[in-house]
Amino acid sequence: MKLANTPITHHTFNGHPFYLKRDDLLHPEFSGNKARKFMALLEDDYPNVTTLIGYGSPQANSLYSLAALAKLKGWQLEFYVDHIPSWLKQNPVGNYQASLELGAKIIEVRQLPSALHPSDYIQQIRKPDDQCLFVEEGGRSPIAERGIKQLAQEIIDWKSSHSISALTVALPSGTGTTALYLTKHLTPHNINVITCACVGGKEYLTQQFDGLHEPLHPVILTTAEKAKHQFGKLYSLDYQIWQALKRQTGVEFDLLYDPYMWQCLQQWRVENPNKPLLYIHQGGLLGNVSMAKRYKRKIEA
Ligand SMILES: *Cc1c(COP(=O)(O)O)cnc(C)c1O
Repeated sequence: MKLANTPITHHTFNGHPFYLKRDDLLHPEFSGNKARKFMALLEDDYPNVTTLIGYGSPQANSLYSLAALAKLKGWQLEFYVDHIPSWLKQNPVGNYQASLELGAKIIEVRQLPSALHPSDYIQQIRKPDDQCLFVEEGGRSPIAERGIKQLAQEIIDWKSSHSISALTVALPSGTGTTALYLTKHLTPHNINVITCACVGGKEYLTQQFDGLHEPLHPVILTTAEKAKHQFGKLYSLDYQIWQALKRQTGVEFDLLYDPYMWQCLQQWRVENPNKPLLYIHQGGLLGNVSMAKRYKRKIEA
């Protein structure tokens, strides 16, 4: 199975034109950034593997993508989480709900006697054997490079067929894996990559880059308010930008990562008024369901 060649559309936001790479449209279940990162696992044969093992947040986009991957491959997904909030258990939504529907086993480790961190629990107690395939949290791994290289190639082909000489590609970072491998494969083609640190700050993101041992790093944009901007928290400015994007482009963006990137980009635009910009839509729309609910509650309160 090969998933590739998502469309690139053209839009205007607050008077500034930009192109949009629609990786949210890769596949109805296996889409966005996590699908690119796990693409090598989809494409390759693993004759001995029956079980896919991962860990992270019970609301993570990677949980849903791994559940979809496991289903496509006929594997059982075991996904280890610290705990599942009781509101989510009572009213499953978004990535959590959809993953359960795809057959994922979601295991809470905090309440177990060992009381270990999910990754330690997997290594010390679950002990994956040769029937298991273990993936790092959020796909932070060199296995991600192949799928991201394919994404880079689609951008390179599109740029040359549209005779664009210099291009800037923008995308927000969590682990930074996507931005880093895109930088590696796009820089030789006169394409520069800009990103922002959504989880932690600039130093944390640089550490994540260093862990993958690639010499070229993307440019990290920031804002004066960054210190106050924490991952997963609600900010009325984020919600306003998200709504404005939807109104002006007709496209629903992700609510967790994209609004902060667009805040950084507004400042970047002032300094780079005429540079062609390609924004990567990295999916994550299922995660919006619970985020949008939280915003509505906050606004109505
Ligand atoms: C995971 C994710 C990111 C962050 O990707 P990294 O490769 O970890 O930097 C950004 N946007 C969306 C929608 C995601 O699901």
